[in-house]
Amino acid sequence: MSAPANPPMGPAGRGRDAVHRDRARLVPFRYRAVGDAYVLTNDFGRYAMVDAETFLRLVQGRIGPEDPAWPQLQAAWFVAEALDRDAVVAQTAERSRFLRSGPNLHILVVTLRCNHTCQYCHASRAPMHHTHTDMSIETAERSVDFAFQSPSPSLTLEFQGGEPLANWPVVEHIIEYALQKNALARKSVMFSLVSNLSLMDDAKLDYLIDRRVQICTSLDGPPAVHDAVRKWSDGASHDTTVRWMARINQRYRDQGLDPNLYRVEALPTITRLVLDDPEGLLDHYVTVGCRSIFLRHLDPFGWAATTKARLGYTMAEFLDFYARAYHHVIELNRRGTDFVERTMALLVAKVIGNFEPNFLDLRSPCGAGIGQIAYNSDGRLFTCDEGRMVDRGGDDCFCLGDVASTAYRDAIAGPQVRAMVLASALDGQPHCATCAYKPWCGVCPVHNYCEQGSLHGRMADSTWCQKYMGLFDFLMGRLQVADAFERSVLQRWATPRRQDHFVQEGGGPGQG
Ligand code: SF4
Ligand code: SF4
Repeated sequence: MSAPANPPMGPAGRGRDAVHRDRARLVPFRYRAVGDAYVLTNDFGRYAMVDAETFLRLVQGRIGPEDPAWPQLQAAWFVAEALDRDAVVAQTAERSRFLRSGPNLHILVVTLRCNHTCQYCHASRAPMHHTHTDMSIETAERSVDFAFQSPSPSLTLEFQGGEPLANWPVVEHIIEYALQKNALARKSVMFSLVSNLSLMDDAKLDYLIDRRVQICTSLDGPPAVHDAVRKWSDGASHDTTVRWMARINQRYRDQGLDPNLYRVEALPTITRLVLDDPEGLLDHYVTVGCRSIFLRHLDPFGWAATTKARLGYTMAEFLDFYARAYHHVIELNRRGTDFVERTMALLVAKVIGNFEPNFLDLRSPCGAGIGQIAYNSDGRLFTCDEGRMVDRGGDDCFCLGDVASTAYRDAIAGPQVRAMVLASALDGQPHCATCAYKPWCGVCPVHNYCEQGSLHGRMADSTWCQKYMGLFDFLMGRLQVADAFERSVLQRWATPRRQDHFVQEGGGPGQG
């Protein structure tokens, strides 16, 4: 008899129930065949990998303390009678700690105006003369008041747009107002600015550095790629971005901050233009001083269909791209460049670091409304920035109300947030509930809605599921064959990297 194949998706193929396990001895587990091994996971987020013979003994109930695989199963918390209950409780509390606070991430869209016409974001920008899309001072203060009602002991206020520097007075006002409020509220506050840097100047940079605002930007690749998609009629977007990145990084060094931790965070939007050359993209990132990259598949939000046809790609193409990029990142590390790929860093934090990085799109339930809120420039509240982008397309179903007239409690406990929590809780997702990767995965109701027309979606046909199934399979495959060096890199990525410099404790304006 050969070992079972992966459980097919759907009620008829529920892998866990098909397994004849020794109920007295083993905790419930899920399984998946990857390469030459079977990946077993349990609800504590621990895993074991066993060969086909061992798996067969396992499902036939022929496994016990005398079995060579028993110590591995015991160490990974599969043996019920050997569980350290205090450790299980602590681990479960850590993995679900996000449920015990309120929204931490508050995305403030201070204007819809932008001086770029990036080809993948037609739906979410307004031309520079549309000053009526700027957030007013009154709405800004109401938004900060709303954010501070969150019971979360830490708040991140993230400036987005449009291009947030186009409404600089409101950015400055929000920072000063929030710091004043925090003198009483005494939360841990972080500010983050997502900018194309084209409107940066020395005075703004001095202020942002002084107020410890983390700066993030977009860099899509070498000039030929970046400038082809991130069009800016007033100048060369790539060169301007890179010039300011170098200056900001220098300011961090001048302050004595660890250059391995403190650099401008640059994010690429992966388009077809870089799909054939992940190595070129990564080498360019290293050349301009980056030490990390976040390789993300394009989301189905805010895209014109014609642009999608020209710049988009299939999930299989993305996963091929990702595998090549991963190998190149490992090679860069072998050559002595400490470089992190952030998607994999999130996965290994969960899989081998055994901690919850609280990435809002990859948790159960997701962060919509309970982990983040997006504030549109007109004061309307959304479950998340992706929900706000759907509104830009003409559908306001992710709107929670507005800062002028909606009470915090009504927004957070209202029907939209409840629906999002239910739709993204993996125990209620038929395919996820029995998936080996459930302990680490998450689903996105906005993605489901855009791609499949329902918040719940159908994971068997979802590109979201294809992506994470593919990425977890890839990681599990690497963990079978990685040499000691590659393992050490993954272990390093699985260690939390705190950027405490940007965290400001309450105690008065400008005080750290
Ligand atoms: S709905 Fe999607 S984008 Fe919004 S918080 Fe949840 S996972 Fe993230
Ligand atoms: S979305 Fe994640 S948990 Fe759900 S079936 Fe796909 S890989 Fe598994």
